Amino acid sequence: MSDATSIAGLTLDEAWDAFARRDRRHDDRFVVAVRTTGIYCRPSCAARRPRRENVEILADAAAARARGYRACRRCCPDSIARDRTAVADATRLIAAAHGAPPPLAALAAAVGYAPHHFLRLFKRDTGLTPAGYARALRAARAAERLRGAASVTDAIYAAGYAAPSRFYADAARLGMAPATFADGGAGVTIHWSIVDTAPGPLLVATTPRGLCHAALDGDGGAALRDLFPAATLVAGDEAHRHWASTLAERAAAERHDPALPDDARRLAFVEAVRRAAASDG
Ligand SMILES: [Zn+2]
Repeated sequence: MSDATSIAGLTLDEAWDAFARRDRRHDDRFVVAVRTTGIYCRPSCAARRPRRENVEILADAAAARARGYRACRRCCPDSIARDRTAVADATRLIAAAHGAPPPLAALAAAVGYAPHHFLRLFKRDTGLTPAGYARALRAARAAERLRGAASVTDAIYAAGYAAPSRFYADAARLGMAPATFADGGAGVTIHWSIVDTAPGPLLVATTPRGLCHAALDGDGGAALRDLFPAATLVAGDEAHRHWASTLAERAAAERHDPALPDDARRLAFVEAVRRAAASDG
């Protein structure tokens, strides 16, 4: 440890703890230099943790270099800002492409990276591949378009699907038949819970088929009533709330980049919730 007693508003114990749990939220707050290897890392580096007595917590890469340390080739602590910008820009390009996302190679080239490296960065920051991100965005748009839609097929094309078959592959996400979803959930009973999470209140709504809606929203369920005016909405019991909390914890454990654009951060978190729910069976 260096002689300072705090860094970036953290005590050295807090900084060490963040490093020990590879917390990405601290990646732009300090670097960790290892005396035995002469290398400095970002807090989230995947490398094995050194012993604490061999570590110096320093303000930034410049401070580490001034003390003779070299940048880790695994976590590339000098490129945090550039990586973040590239991933953020890519989420905007995908959103703008509206259903027909650029191929990985084109997307990576557009933000100045080699495809394989960029794929790894994107996945680390969002928990999704660029293609998976595009698919999730398109499915979310389809759910929005379906609401009150006179024609399911029109809603599918409007959301950016090239063919209805692609949409039906994603339709399990609706938790009910697409036509029923468009009808406001007529005849369906939906249990819902709202739980607190780091990115904000998370609403999780389920039918007997599974999740029918998951969203970060602080409106106390008003959006759910708008989405499913014809359904029977039932506030979740203790077990439902507990399950929702478990999903939220598993999503939070992925530690997506907190510096993502707001809509991308929300999408990444909700998709992690959906993956957690799907892996529950
Ligand atoms: Zn490293």
